[in-house]
Formats: sequence, structure tokens, C-alpha cells
Amino acid sequence: MSSSPARLPSAEFEQLVKAAKDRHNLSDIIGRHTTLKARGRSEKVGLCPFHNERTPSFEVNDSNGQYYCHGCGKSGDAITFLMEGEGMTFRQAYEALAGDEFPVISEEERARRKAEDEEKMAERIAVAKEIWAASIPPKGTPAEVYLRSRGIVMDLPETVRFAMTPRWRNAETGEVGRDIPAVVFAMQDNSDDIVGVQCVFLEDGGRRKYERTRADGTKAKAKLTFGKLVGSAIRLGPVAEQIVYCEGPEDGLTLAQLLPHMSVWVSCGTAVMPRMIFPRAVQSLILAGDNNIAGRKAVVAARIVHSSQGLKVEEVFPDPPFKDWNDQLMGVRS
Ligand SMILES: [Zn+2]
Repeated sequence: MSSSPARLPSAEFEQLVKAAKDRHNLSDIIGRHTTLKARGRSEKVGLCPFHNERTPSFEVNDSNGQYYCHGCGKSGDAITFLMEGEGMTFRQAYEALAGDEFPVISEEERARRKAEDEEKMAERIAVAKEIWAASIPPKGTPAEVYLRSRGIVMDLPETVRFAMTPRWRNAETGEVGRDIPAVVFAMQDNSDDIVGVQCVFLEDGGRRKYERTRADGTKAKAKLTFGKLVGSAIRLGPVAEQIVYCEGPEDGLTLAQLLPHMSVWVSCGTAVMPRMIFPRAVQSLILAGDNNIAGRKAVVAARIVHSSQGLKVEEVFPDPPFKDWNDQLMGVRS
């Protein structure tokens, strides 16, 4: 490779990187480190290369090119795997994918996967819409109990509701888990349509977040996202010229309460923070990060991407002893 992808404008650069990733089965790359067994059409599972385990919780999806470990939470794509798993630099990882180090998949195979991806996304959005349709306003529900316990005393926006909903569904068998109380946050993309929901599962009438330790000692997540994650956000306020953009709904509500004249939007995960596509009317962002490495990293990445899209970007962080905005509100020092 003679030209460095890092010198190209960001859209072109992203396309080059995507094309390099799309040339391969992620499982061929990860298969050099752990034995993967097929599960479903495009998913494979194996022992996690990032942590010690005896039962496989590491999933590799050749359809969307992503891996995820249910044990240690590691996730990413071919680039991050080569960087974290094989110690390559970004440049080396890109060149390995653009070169002939790994088996290359055919054009037909790629088209088939694209169709499959679209079908899966439509199914995921349908699940999210179903959860939203079954939700109710939070007044008098465990959702309200939970948010009040987190110091949120303001009137809750319409994008915050309560539902009794399962934590898991099996798309193939149609099986679903039992209904669990949850705060449900609507996620909207540029169509203004609700394309996803983030659920914070609760117990004890909303006095606590859902908490379970699995047989292997790992903790089940209290917060799960359904539907379209990339390019959508929880809108705690309207489309506005300036948006306060943060990660995590409790932080978002905290900021909305502290800044009643501003519109706060929430990304569901630090990794997708830079991948948000804002409506045209939005011209500037205040990125409100967490005071930890993941939070700082997400803000740096979001600043680079969103300022390259022509948005004016500022950054704010909680005062140093506090990890995040809600801790600051509650006076919980880490
Ligand atoms: Zn792991």
C-alpha cells in the first residue's frame, strides 16, 4: 500500500476501511486464535480470546462483521480484533485486510449478506416497535420509582415510558423470556420514527436495577438495547440548533434536569456515539462525556467525526471526583 488511508477525508477513508473489512469473513481472521463453531446462518461461537473461560461466550457474526463477548464485554470488528488481538497498529490492520493475508469472499456472498443484514435489521426494529407499543407513561410505575431514586425529579419527557417486557427473545424459535419491569427509552433516527428502544430492567418495584449473576460468575446486564443502535438517539428534548449529546439515559436525564432550556440527546453506548447522524437543523453539539477512559475516548472520536461533518463541537465533563453526571448529581464520589 503506497497511500495512507489516514490522509483521506473521513467519508472516503471510512469507505476504504469498510471495503477492506467486507472482503473477508471475520471468522477466518478470529479463527486463527480460537475454534469457532457455527450457530445459526451467520453466527459462530467459541472460547473468548480475550479472557479465560470454559464455556464459549464469544460470538462472531460474519454477516455484520462484528464480534461480541458476553463474558468480558469485548466487542468490535476485524480492525479492532487485529489491533487488540494481534497487536497491530490501525495502519497494519488495514493493510492486512486490504492485502492477501486472509481468504477473500465473493461478490455474490457479499450481496447475500447485505440482504440478510437488512432483513435482520427490519426484524430488530419490529421488536423495538412492539416493546414501545406495549409501554405506558411512567407516572406511578416502577420506572418513575427508579428515576426518582436516581435524583431525577423533573417531569419526564414523552420518550421515557414503562413496560413489562422480556429480556430475551429467540427469533428462530419464537420463544421469549418472562416479563420484567423496565424503563423504556425511545430511540429515533433521522426519519423521526421510533426505530429502537433502550430498556433499563428493574426489580423490587423499581427500587433497584435488575441484577443476576450467571453460573459462570458474569453479571447479566440491566440495560439492553433493541432495534437500530447506529444513527439513532434517545431524544429527551426536541430537534434544536444546539444539542447536548451524552451516553447513558440516567446521565441524559440528569443533564436535562440541570439544563432545562437545552435539548439533551442520548447515545446508547460509547462506541456508537460518533456514528450518530443528526438532522440538518442541528448545527452545534455539546458533548457531555464521562470521567473515565471509555468516556473520554468516545468524546474524542465523536468530536472528530461530528466536526468533520460541519457541526460546531464543544466538550464538557463532570467535576473530577465524579465518574459521571448522575454521580455528580447524587454526590456519589468514585
Ligand atoms: Zn471475553
